[in-house]
Amino acid sequence: MWWNYSVICLGKTKSILVSIMLVIALLFTSCGKTVSKAPEDNVVIVEVPKYEKIPVTISDDMEFAEYSAIKTGTAYLYKQSERKVILGRFAPVVAINAGHGTDIDLSIKTLSHPDGSPKVTGGTTKEGEVYSYAVSRGMTFPNGVKEAEVTLLLALYLRDELLDMGYDVLMIREDIDTKLDNIARTVIANNYANIHISLHYDSTDTDKGIFYCSTPSSKKYRKMYPVNQTYELNDLLGDTIVAALATQGEKICGQGKLPMDLTQMSYTKIPSIDLELGDRASVHTPDRLKELASHLATAIYCIPLESFPEVK
Ligand SMILES: [Zn+2]
Repeated sequence: MWWNYSVICLGKTKSILVSIMLVIALLFTSCGKTVSKAPEDNVVIVEVPKYEKIPVTISDDMEFAEYSAIKTGTAYLYKQSERKVILGRFAPVVAINAGHGTDIDLSIKTLSHPDGSPKVTGGTTKEGEVYSYAVSRGMTFPNGVKEAEVTLLLALYLRDELLDMGYDVLMIREDIDTKLDNIARTVIANNYANIHISLHYDSTDTDKGIFYCSTPSSKKYRKMYPVNQTYELNDLLGDTIVAALATQGEKICGQGKLPMDLTQMSYTKIPSIDLELGDRASVHTPDRLKELASHLATAIYCIPLESFPEVK
């Protein structure tokens, strides 16, 4: 698996470098492992659970918690019994945020930005609005399936892929109605994860491919706290994920990014992206979502950890 991921991350032209890294990686891996001996006849083998599932909620002392309007829901942190290490560094805890899936009155709104300034681009909420939908309902596919149902199934498949690979995973939403708005989701991710990926499908009908919502060019927006702390890493995270998906044959929309002022990115304190996995014309069968989850897990493995804050 290691070599496979590495080739996808770096591209074929660097395969010689990868081979050298592979040898080094395998040496480290085999050196660090305890070789288990064959059990004696009278020894009882106790299966130790690979990970535990911990419910987590928002609390008032968390930064930006007071800006959230819907925050009674529970997220779940899946914690491995052993931390995953990639080339000598602890792997990030990955927050998977299945977009939408909060059944609420759409009149509930929250501040678009923590400093009360207006939105600098359009989106579900228009440019210039000081208040945005706390969380929107998302689109519906032509066959009647809701975006929130598709993002949830994709998130569950991705969770299982990442857990199998040894990552700790924060699942922001695991059912069809979780009472957490976009600010609450971001606050929980800020406190329990190291990177945050929300999963969405766009409302167009052109099968345009995958992109992420990158940071708008507005200088004022980029200077606003906490955007000024994170936007470069947000975009690096997005560029990395989209490039790794392209290498695995996924269709990419244009340059793979579209500038968008979103609540998630305006409140995040950790590297974070809104990833649009296609649109209303995209195939979203369970088999296709399983394939996409596998490609996403590989893309997450490709994150250049040396460029991100070190995980303690
Ligand atoms: Zn969406």
